[in-house]
Parts: sequence; C-alpha cells; structure tokens
Amino acid sequence: MSGNHNDNGKLSWSQDVQQGIRTARDLPRLVGNPQAGADSKKLTKIFKVRAPKSYIDLVNPSDPHDPIAAQFFPDERELRFLSGELPDPIGDKRWEKAPRLVHRYPDRVLLFPTFQCAVYCRYCFRKERINDEGEGFSKAAIASALSYIASQPELREVILSGGDPWTLSDRQLKQLRIELEKISHLRLLRVHTRVPVVLPRRVTSDLVDALRGRLMVCVVMHFNHPREITNDAIVACQRLREGGFMLLNQTVLLRGVNDDETTLKTLMQELVYSLGAKPYYLHHCDKTRGIGHFRTTIEHGTTLMRSLRGHISGVCVPNYMLDLPGGDGKVPLGPSYVERHSGQEWGFRTYDGKTHTYVEEPT
Ligand code: SF4
Repeated sequence: MSGNHNDNGKLSWSQDVQQGIRTARDLPRLVGNPQAGADSKKLTKIFKVRAPKSYIDLVNPSDPHDPIAAQFFPDERELRFLSGELPDPIGDKRWEKAPRLVHRYPDRVLLFPTFQCAVYCRYCFRKERINDEGEGFSKAAIASALSYIASQPELREVILSGGDPWTLSDRQLKQLRIELEKISHLRLLRVHTRVPVVLPRRVTSDLVDALRGRLMVCVVMHFNHPREITNDAIVACQRLREGGFMLLNQTVLLRGVNDDETTLKTLMQELVYSLGAKPYYLHHCDKTRGIGHFRTTIEHGTTLMRSLRGHISGVCVPNYMLDLPGGDGKVPLGPSYVERHSGQEWGFRTYDGKTHTYVEEPT
C-alpha cells in the first residue's frame, strides 16, 4: 500500500494505518489501559489484532461496552469454544478448487488475493484461515486460481474477498482487474471490503481508476453500526458512486453491537440516505469458534427484521441470511408473513400485525 498526502490536516490513510494498532503491543498506548497488552497477548495468538487510528478514535472510552471497540478489541470470551463451533464455519475448504479460490455457486467464485485486512474483526467467520495463512498478495499465489476461472465458461462473476482486497496497492489491483478482464465470459467484478468503514481515506480516485474497466464493479461494504458512518466514509462512498460502482452493504448481526431495533433501523436508513448503499444482507452470526458472545438467536434476528420491513423503506431493508455450516450455502431466514395456506387460500399477517386472506384466481 502507498499513502496519500495529508488532507485538511487529517492523517493520510497510510499514517492512519501506522498510528493505529498493528500488534498487541500497541493496545495499551492506544486504549489508555496498561493491562491491555498483557491481557491480549494470548488472545492475539488466537486471532491477531489491527485497527487504524481514525477507527479507534470512534470509540467512546468511558463506555465499557462500546460497540466500535467490541468489534476489534480482543476479549477473553474468544477463548471459549462451543461444541458446535467450527474452524471453517461455512465450508470454504469443501469448495476450494485452487489455492485462494472457492467455487460454491454455479456462476460465481470467491478469489482471495490476500489474507490481510485493515482491521481484524473479532467475529470474522474466516478468522482462523486469516490467522494461519496471513500472507498478502502475490501473482504466483493466485496464478492457478486465474487459470481455473478461465477454464469455467459458466462463470460470470469474481468476488474479491479474503482478507480485504483493498489492502492491495492500486497497481496490484489494476493488474488483477486487467487479468480478469482478459477472461471473456466474466461480466461482474465484486469486491468485499471493510476499508470504506475503517480506513475510508484509502478510497482515493486512483483506487477507483484502478478498478474501472470492462467489468461492472459492485462494492459490497461492511458497516455494522451507525457511528461508523463518518464524514470520511460519506466522501469515500460518494467517490465510489461517482466512479460508477454499485454500492451494497452487508452487516453481521452482533450481540451488543447492533442487535437492537433503534441501532439497526438507523444503520439501514443511513446506509441509504448518507452513503447511497443498498443494505444487501444482514448475516446471522456464523458458527465460528470463540464468537459465541456475539451470536444472537435466530428468533431475535427475525423479530428485529419484523421491526424493519414495512416500517422503513424497502430500499433500506436487507435480507436476513444464514450461511449453513459445512458449505451448503446461504438461506434466507425470513421472517415469513404467510400464516396459513390451503388450496387457493392464503393467510398473511401484514407488517403492522393485521391478518389478511388472499384467494388466488384460477389460472
Ligand atoms: S475485514 Fe472482513 S475478512 Fe477481514 S477480519 Fe474483518 S470480517 Fe474478516
């Protein structure tokens, strides 16, 4: 990665990285708690720690349950593994067709250009792989993945994931985009990234230019809390939209972070109103090892979804999804508004709790 110059006295994005948390040793200095480093040493063996300075600055230090800190600050509860939790909760390995490539669905593949991130989210579903295989980008590492993509004519979409693809340099991203553009059956380049959330000044016009080309570009961001929607994030998203990129967002439903009606509603509305990003998925927390303290029940998730649908614009309502353990793919969790069905008669409950009978006309 290479940095920009200072902008209006703010840290450049590379300074933001340098002055943030990069190892457990940085924790006491940045969170003002001398015990933090010692406590976190064993935890960061399980999953490393990283966060840019401007993201850390969003933390309210007087709140012991701060929803921003909870997402990047190591927690003793990460040492507690539940019996049903898994090292590879969504079965990436089952569908791995080449190093750094997962082909689970018919017309799209996941490509991992890097296993490094701008922040290490404590709840990450891929955290064990990211911890074990923490290498960054190299052309050699993805060479056979590119050959595989070229050999599968049914593919239309490549999803750059990881790791965070926007930890690559502009030059590396441009090279990768050009390599993918050479594969004539591809139509869509999707990027899964948390950079617009935690390091929004990294979203420069050079980064946008690096990705613009023949392929339609869809950027799926990862905002989890309304306080993450900062002025810098708004500028970053405006730049992405002006670049012609489609903007979506996926949120993980996290206990103590966003699992209440007001937080979730505000987040979904501000994603649209402030960032111009369509809320795409609300993920039920995966069965990743050591993240039980973040997981809600599905019943609580569907209750929260009921508080959204109909009450706020449909543009602002995501789909609530469960990624089935073992790699069987995603299923929508509802809630269902069908109460009964017999022959041509259907009974529905509306968003505001009324019942409605619908009779289908003969076809
Ligand atoms: S940025 Fe994404 S891949 Fe990286 S730790 Fe966070 S959730 Fe996991």
